[in-house]
Parts: sequence; structure tokens; C-alpha cells
Amino acid sequence: EVVPTKTHIALLASPGMGHLIPVLELGQRFAVHHRFLVTIFVVTTNASTAKSQLPLYSSYRDLLNIVFLPPVDVSDLVTDSMAIVSQLVLIMRHAMPILRTEIAELKPCPSALMVDLFGTEAFKIAEEFGMLKYMFDTGNAWFLALSLYYPHQDETNKHGHVYLHKPLNIPGCAPLEYEDTVDLYFQPEDRALQDDFAKMGLDMARADGILVNSWEYLEPKTLKALRDPNLLGRLSSVPVHPVGPLIRPAKPVKDPVSRSAALDWLDLQPAGSVLYVSFGSGGTLTADQLTELAWGLELSQQRFVWVVRPPIEGSAFGSFFRQDKRTEDGTPDYLPDGFVSRTREVGLVVEMWAPQTEVLAHQSVGGFLSHCGWNSTLESIINGVPMICWPLYAEQGMNTAVLTDHLGMATRAREVGPGGVVGREVIEKAIRRVMDEDEEHGRLARAKVLELKHSAEVALAKGGSSHGSLERVAKECKTGRTDLRERARG
Ligand code: UDP
Repeated sequence: EVVPTKTHIALLASPGMGHLIPVLELGQRFAVHHRFLVTIFVVTTNASTAKSQLPLYSSYRDLLNIVFLPPVDVSDLVTDSMAIVSQLVLIMRHAMPILRTEIAELKPCPSALMVDLFGTEAFKIAEEFGMLKYMFDTGNAWFLALSLYYPHQDETNKHGHVYLHKPLNIPGCAPLEYEDTVDLYFQPEDRALQDDFAKMGLDMARADGILVNSWEYLEPKTLKALRDPNLLGRLSSVPVHPVGPLIRPAKPVKDPVSRSAALDWLDLQPAGSVLYVSFGSGGTLTADQLTELAWGLELSQQRFVWVVRPPIEGSAFGSFFRQDKRTEDGTPDYLPDGFVSRTREVGLVVEMWAPQTEVLAHQSVGGFLSHCGWNSTLESIINGVPMICWPLYAEQGMNTAVLTDHLGMATRAREVGPGGVVGREVIEKAIRRVMDEDEEHGRLARAKVLELKHSAEVALAKGGSSHGSLERVAKECKTGRTDLRERARG
């Protein structure tokens, strides 16, 4: 009996949990639903960080061939003022030679290479080995639209956006208000950053397909604009496949020893009563802002689980290792004195990291104050949890606009853009708006998020739009590059 060879595909994840988690989930779909062999290349900058993430991989290890590329060290090339996007581009560029060597050794040679936003340089390698090349955008379709449009932008509009703070028009899409804009437009003098981003936009337009972690029901207008030959489709005819929401599912943790204290605490709270507060895998606030948030939480008198990190002045990116002091009642030294004692009855402070997907899936959680990273956003939607948006960097402002203005499932923690400290009363009000049962806003947001949750389940189920998108891509991967060419020749 001839056993047909399995289709083999390779995925490339750039550094950062926000990229890695959806890439692993995508790989798993292909392995489970389509029985593909899936190799995942993980770019790291630091061997110990990679190792500390190992528990994350354990659930995927039987399904996926996970290959850690040797850590890339670009420390002597990175300057303090270098934008994160440019740093990631640089790191990925340095990972290319070893990636090429690894791909050359894979047997059978994968029929497709899928990279995230920062990995498009690897398309050259895919071309060399006759592989299909896909970009997996781990963000939303609106940000994808901006990325594709960026190299072709109308200069007058761009100038008006950057210097006069006018909305940015992306053909066929909702206009982007300045207060929600991406970092990119705050640093118009950073030529390297502008060039890096433009190059990513041009590279991804050359892909055989773009997968995006969104779904038809969530962003119908934007997805239509991406495909319309008179709108964004004019700039690139690359097929866009919405395959989302792809998120790490919450695991029912039965073992009481390994179960997190946060979940035990949640068990004791009334249904839908707890606000979960977290700023993603690396987000931090300044010392002043932490103080205001602590007071805002306390004044709101709502139940909460708060993932806290020590403040870092002048940067929204946290550090993961620091020795902290705490006062007698266990309050970390960077929170108001006695905070833990005063809120003991209603709140729980978790330092550094919480099992987020499990927390959001817990029935006691009724709201999520978040930096609106796209993974956090999707996790909130899939669990039907309305949000309070507190964007910090990258495209989190755009995500906020999607959740508030476009969809109405969230409220803004502040009305102004980044910079400046949000006061405790403003925070208190925002929390009440979503958590207080008598608030109209919260009721509407909850109803909306449940509608979106349902639409996500429909999209992912057999016959659903995202399920179908993934099937189409899988079919292309099975056929591979040669047949596609033949078909194109007719
Ligand atoms: N996360 C977590 N525990 C934490 C903080 C974050 O499990 O305390 C996970 C979260 O569930 C999400 C990811 O880390 O899957 C963060 O991705 P996101 O896109 O929301 O934000 P980023 O970290 O990229 O800013």
C-alpha cells in the first residue's frame, strides 16, 4: 500500500508572545484539521526567555515540529531611539541565513512558508525553494489595510494626519482618527521606520495569500475594501483570507496544585462581577499612572483581578525581571500604601503574569480593562467579555477604535491619545460604565460582545467563513506551487 506523503508546511514566528501564540494556533489548525506536517521556526533574541516560555509549547509539542533558531544578537546594532518595528525587522533580517539553512534541510521540503508581519524577508527563501508564500497578519483587517496602503499613501493626506492631526483616509475603510493612530505617525522624522514599514507593505502585497486573524462578520467593510479592485484591491491583488479568531483556548485546569490562585479566588466571586485588568505580555505604566489606576479601581468599588508590573519611566515596555519590595500587607512598593489591605475583600493583585485565557473564560469575570493587543481582544470576544480600552503602543489605538466606534463592545478609559496621566475619577467612571449593572452602556456592550462571540463561533465551525478560508489555503498548500502555475497557464 502506498502511503501518500503528508503535506508539509513551515511557519515562521517573530519574537514576542503576541506573534508566537497565534502562529502556534494557526499551525495547530493545519496539523489537526488537515493532518499536515507543520514545522514552526521560532526566532528568539535570548535563550533564557525562549526557555522560560517552554510550558507554553508543551501543549503543542505532539502536534508541531517546533524549531528554535539560535538566538539573534543585534544588541550592538540597536540604538535607544530605534523604533520597535525597526528592531524587529533587523532581528528577522539577521535570522534569515540560519532559516535558509534549516529550510534546506527539511524533508520533505515544505510546500508553503507562512510568516508573520515581520517575516516577509523570508519570502526570498520561499521563492528559492519553490514554496508558496503567505503572510499571517496576527492583527485585524483594518491594520492590514493600513499596512498595504502605506507605501501608496496620498502625501497630502499623510501630511495632514501627521502635522494637522486630521483623519487618515484608507480607501474604502473607516477613517483613522489621529488619537487612535499608530506609532509610525508620531515619528515622521524616523526615516528608517517609515522605510521599514513601507517595505513590509510592498513585500506582503507579493504574497500568494494573506491570512488575517479576523472574520467576515467582525470587519465586513474593511474586508470588502481589501478585495475591491477599485479600492485597496487596486494596489495588490493578493487574496485575503480571514481565518480568525485563532486564540489559545482556555484549558480546564483540574489539578488543584497547578491551578493558579487567581482562579481559586474567582471561584468565590459572583458571576460576571469581576473586572480583569492587564496590559498584555509586556505593557507597563508609569509610577504616577499606576497610582491613579489603583485609586480608580478602589473608588469604583468593583471586584477586580489586576496583573501588576513595576513601573518603567518613559517606556510602555516592561521588564520581566526585577527584585521588588513589598510592604507588610503584601502591597508591592510601587502601589499606594495599604492598597492590598483596603481592597482585600474585593480585589486580587497578581504580579507579572496571569493565566489570561483561563481568567477570561471564568464565569465570574464580567469586564476586561486592557491595552487592547489583538490577542487579548480576541480572547475577550470569544469569552463574551466587554472591554475598557487603554491602548499603549503599536496598533492598539486602531484596535480600540474597532472595539468602541466600529463595534460598540467596549468603552475608552480615556478620551485623549497616549501621553498624560489619566486621573482616578476618569478611570473610576469608565469602570462603572462597563461593570455597573444599572449602566446602559455596559448593557449594550455586553449584548454586542455576545453577538460577536456567536459570530466567531459560527465563522470557525464547519461551513463557516473562517473555516472555509483555512480550507482554501490548505488546498493550495496541498497542490503546491507547480500545480498552481500550471493552473494559471490554463
Ligand atoms: N498573556 C497572559 N498573561 C498575562 C499577560 C498576557 O497569558 O498576564 C497572554 C494573553 O493571553 C495574550 C498574549 O499574552 O494571548 C498577549 O498578546 P496581545 O496581542 O494581547 O498583546 P501583546 O503582549 O502582544 O502586547
